[in-house]
Amino acid sequence: MPMPSGGEFDLISRYFDRPAPSGMLGVGDDCALLSPAQGCELAVSTDMLIEGRHFFPDIAPRLLGHKTLAVNLSDLAAMGARPLACTLAISLPSINEAWLQAFADGFHALSRESRCPLVGGDTTGGSPGVVLCVTVMGEVRRHQALRRDAARVGDDIWVSGTLGGADIALRLAQGRMPPDPARWQAARTFLELPVPRLKLGRYLAGVAHAAIDISDGLLQDLGHVLDASQCAAEVWLDALPADPVLDGLDESIRLDALLAGGDAYELCFMAHPRRREQIETLGRQLGLAVSRVGTIQRGTGVRVLDADGQALPITHRGFDHFSETA
Ligand code: ADP
Ligand code: MG
Repeated sequence: MPMPSGGEFDLISRYFDRPAPSGMLGVGDDCALLSPAQGCELAVSTDMLIEGRHFFPDIAPRLLGHKTLAVNLSDLAAMGARPLACTLAISLPSINEAWLQAFADGFHALSRESRCPLVGGDTTGGSPGVVLCVTVMGEVRRHQALRRDAARVGDDIWVSGTLGGADIALRLAQGRMPPDPARWQAARTFLELPVPRLKLGRYLAGVAHAAIDISDGLLQDLGHVLDASQCAAEVWLDALPADPVLDGLDESIRLDALLAGGDAYELCFMAHPRRREQIETLGRQLGLAVSRVGTIQRGTGVRVLDADGQALPITHRGFDHFSETA
């Protein structure tokens, strides 16, 4: 599909072609060339973002550039992988240079910060809205990747950072909660500038057994680990790291944001109890809260216990991309 106007190559060289690090072949050839370190496996992940479904049409393009890469880097973090490089496929309904510049700035800033150079992609037109597809590649020592199928009975369940902030921001942005400017100011960065937990993930490789990043809600994402690992979990409501943005909200909204709130991009990981001290030290060194929120057990499903040890009736599922529109 030809671009609606302007040259495709022009756009690529202006906005996306950046020098690749030495030892790597970047934009400009038929393929990029990467050299993963010896003894490492290649970790590869792709995510698509579609205008109107995964982001608002009027989102600030710089934030979109950041988020497009951040959600992909979060997958590398959840695998315990170190970023090597990324590719970007982009389809634009029309060419808006100011928009592209800001988008590229946001993308390249995070690409530099996370040492994940953009080494290729595809640029096209003709879609009714903007469509973005990023592939990230990373490396992780053989046998050390944090796989979803590797949680073990008796493991502790941990969550990084805080939960619920992005969910509240999304509710406010979509008008599903009454306007609350102070809360919006406190919550918006969770939604707009998610921080992929790359360092935490890398340090956990070889320390934790399993991990997942919380993109669709704690219960749903934890559920994926339990299904893959064929075990059950008990989660302690009081131990969940509720973000202060949730303070003063109705209990039902709090619960929903904590247990089913998406877009958090924190890591939920499982590790042997003898690793507790090591993990707490790691959290302190990274300046990142790590909370022990439950245990892995025999059986199936998640039980969420309140302060009195009573199981909550769970109706809170995560975000389902096929039954709702974002
Ligand atoms: P091909 O015909 O081999 O698909 P293209 O003409 O699509 O090549 O792209 C030319 C070069 O620019 C390739 O190296 C490709 O990886 C790169 N490229 C195209 N679009 C992007 C983009 N959005 N971001 C980064 N690199 C891109
Ligand atoms: Mg192409």
